[in-house]
Amino acid sequence: MRSQVRILPGALFLTLLIMDLSVAFLGTGGPVPTALRGTASVLVTRGGERLMFDCGEGTQRQLRRSLGLIRVDELYLTHFHLDHCLGLPGLLKTYDLNDREEPLRLFGPVGLNKLMRDFGPLIGRLGFHLEAEELEPGDIVPHQDYEIEAFPVEHRTRALGYALLEDDRPGRFDPEAAARLGVAPGPDFGRLQAGETVSGAEGSVSPEQVMGEDRLGRAIAITGDTMPCPATVNAAADADLLIHDASFMNEDLERARETGHSTGAQAAGVAAEANVKMLAMVHISARYHVGAALDEAREVFPGAVAPRDFDLIELPFPERGEPRLVHQGAKRDPAQKPASDPPEPGSGQPD
Ligand SMILES: [Zn+2]
Ligand SMILES: [Zn+2]
Repeated sequence: MRSQVRILPGALFLTLLIMDLSVAFLGTGGPVPTALRGTASVLVTRGGERLMFDCGEGTQRQLRRSLGLIRVDELYLTHFHLDHCLGLPGLLKTYDLNDREEPLRLFGPVGLNKLMRDFGPLIGRLGFHLEAEELEPGDIVPHQDYEIEAFPVEHRTRALGYALLEDDRPGRFDPEAAARLGVAPGPDFGRLQAGETVSGAEGSVSPEQVMGEDRLGRAIAITGDTMPCPATVNAAADADLLIHDASFMNEDLERARETGHSTGAQAAGVAAEANVKMLAMVHISARYHVGAALDEAREVFPGAVAPRDFDLIELPFPERGEPRLVHQGAKRDPAQKPASDPPEPGSGQPD
């Protein structure tokens, strides 16, 4: 079971009731981009915050084609293979040319500072503050009511996965119990839900008397490139969504091991062991028919999906429903959505 993080300060309760959480898939392909699939990048939107994970070649164009050139607040790189970071110089330069003023926080494994020194001559001077920070496995980037935890994955190079872990939320408010204790409906109900003690008919009434058990926050784990590994199972325990490397199919199991990647079935095994609600398979090699890769994974974990570029996964609070894959949900104007899906390249033939 996922251990509890921090208990949320009561004042944030109402904000969190409406806190949207979604993942837009900007690049779902393997190391070689195709006409329909870009290289690795996902964008997590939580309330007004935008966190990008990996920034493969062409990511800024993928943004333009979907959400627009939004200003990302934080950018996390899993590792420094080109298909995960080559889009960074262009995105930074475009932000600069668009007179970005807000600082951008950039995180990655050890080696990030060297990467930025190498990219330096390409990018030139930026008019906004770029704050690069190297992370070790286990490091936590705290936020107001959630945290990003870096966990070690197993690839051919130093690489990190990231887990977004929301703080626990207060339990459900029981208005009838509050009324029985003589609390008048109105502002005092709000105070109780915000963690304050109020006056009742026979003395004070504390939140514990009228609030149910604390509820787990939501969780998303993103592996980047990796073999199946126990650290992912831990980091993704009971998560709402696991986004996992599914580069290969079973017929190429040995190749997956040699290259530090996973098969879809292995990703599904991790998802099952971690007891996640949904598995999003990404980085699927262009040599496969995605439907066939998905079938293989679903034999192990029925909750597997294989998002395409611009698909969106919505993650409501558990009491409001299950995670939901929205086809082309990251496209800005729903009216521009194509009437039907374009076919996957080749339907089984290599592209
Ligand atoms: Zn890769
Ligand atoms: Zn890689």
